[in-house]
Amino acid sequence: MDKRSDNFYVTTPIYYVNDKPHAGHAYTTIMADVFARYQRKIKGKEKVFFLTGTDEHGSKVAKSAKASNLSPQEFADVVSESYKKAWNDLDISYDEFFRTTDPRHEKVVQDYLQQLYDNGYIYKSKYKGLYCVGCEKFLPFDEIINNACIYHPNTPLVEQEEENYFFKLKDFSSAVLDEIKKQSYKILPPERENEIVSKIKGGINDVSISRSGVTWGIPLPWDKSQTVYVWVDALLNYYSATREKSKEKFWPTALGPERISFISVRTAKKFV
Ligand SMILES: [Zn+2]
Repeated sequence: MDKRSDNFYVTTPIYYVNDKPHAGHAYTTIMADVFARYQRKIKGKEKVFFLTGTDEHGSKVAKSAKASNLSPQEFADVVSESYKKAWNDLDISYDEFFRTTDPRHEKVVQDYLQQLYDNGYIYKSKYKGLYCVGCEKFLPFDEIINNACIYHPNTPLVEQEEENYFFKLKDFSSAVLDEIKKQSYKILPPERENEIVSKIKGGINDVSISRSGVTWGIPLPWDKSQTVYVWVDALLNYYSATREKSKEKFWPTALGPERISFISVRTAKKFV
């Protein structure tokens, strides 16, 4: 039986402010809106929480801001507002538009990472690798073809070495495999589940969760010279948006960002 309560939490992916709103963003947002409206009809308004918002940190945003002669915060304010306007124009019935520069979010991220650090799950180490500014990450070997990123073939890769903080992801491999086996998480479609299971069984590495050269981000509470890696910061938004008392009952998501994107792509394929 599903242990989840009767509440329904649906969220769009939060959109990166490096890009203006376009049809792709509108598509996933309309899809989430359809689910939210339907669930409100059958469960009642108070049982539904529909979240959307913007992902606003990282070096890519800082760079775009500089090119526009704005501070990163001013730039994020302008682009974030254009998303809000687009959703209001489309009459999207979101309950909350949450931004990763919101102090409420920043506090949850800092508290969460501090807790991991205090419990020994985070350590400092040197990292050397090829960095893709397009992805905002160091690339693993299987994402490099002809000395370029498979997603950004025209962006030159930068060799970088830095001291970062790492999360002990490897230590959690068997616990995650057990949870998948017990079906605590439903991974859909089934071929994705097989893909994830074989990736974990093949061996995963610890992940870097901070950046030393990126100033536009949330400072690590125990080492202010580093900021939280934007992917970690953004991922926690789906959780931090539910931390207020009135919204606590909605966590975890019934339909998260990955599933909304998946449903959107699957539906789109029916029409093309
Ligand atoms: Zn890339």
